[in-house]
Amino acid sequence: MAQVTVVQHALVQDRLTRLRNRESSVEVFRRLLRDLGVLLGYEVTRDLVLSPTRVLTPLTEAAGSTLRLPPPCVVSVLRAGNGLVAGLLEILPEADVGHIGLQRDETTLEPTEYYFSVPDGLADRTVIVADPMLATGNSALAALRKLRAAGARDLRYVCLVAAPAGIDALTAALPDVPVWTAAVDSHLDERGYIVPGLGDAGDRLYGTSPRPSGA
Ligand code: URA
Repeated sequence: MAQVTVVQHALVQDRLTRLRNRESSVEVFRRLLRDLGVLLGYEVTRDLVLSPTRVLTPLTEAAGSTLRLPPPCVVSVLRAGNGLVAGLLEILPEADVGHIGLQRDETTLEPTEYYFSVPDGLADRTVIVADPMLATGNSALAALRKLRAAGARDLRYVCLVAAPAGIDALTAALPDVPVWTAAVDSHLDERGYIVPGLGDAGDRLYGTSPRPSGA
């Protein structure tokens, strides 16, 4: 059974609540999403593997630890993943970044891949997938399966809001991929949107208009 962590940190819950607010502007939404990338990133990276080392302080030698190389890889599930990745890179500036573009068919809710670009050597890195809305789980599974096929072993998935259906789909299909989320919401509506959710994360991040139903 995959491990699902709902991050209850006070700052995470504060930022998430303001992010949900329909009155939040694009500017505010973008800043809050980046903040959440930082805050959730702390949790996701808590147990990254360290290499022991020694360092000279101004006074003497000290034992220490640095992140094992190669550095982690962060993968943005486009478009909204970019907002979380901005925060993840604040705490992991050494990370390489991959991008996966998945277009959701609004009728079948099935994803079609239109872009895939990831760094080499995934097998030897921690790969953190940033995908703010875990709705049906179809896109998340497509992204994670593609990364697994590309060699990723230590795969981690971070979102903001998850629907029970998405968690069930992901944990059943990929029980070894741990999931971090700021909230588990009630359900999906008939268009596959998370309720209460926060709307279309990509539209809110970039100030684009929601696509009309069936378009
Ligand atoms: N994607 C979003 O951006 N929002 C949802 O509620 C579901 C999928």
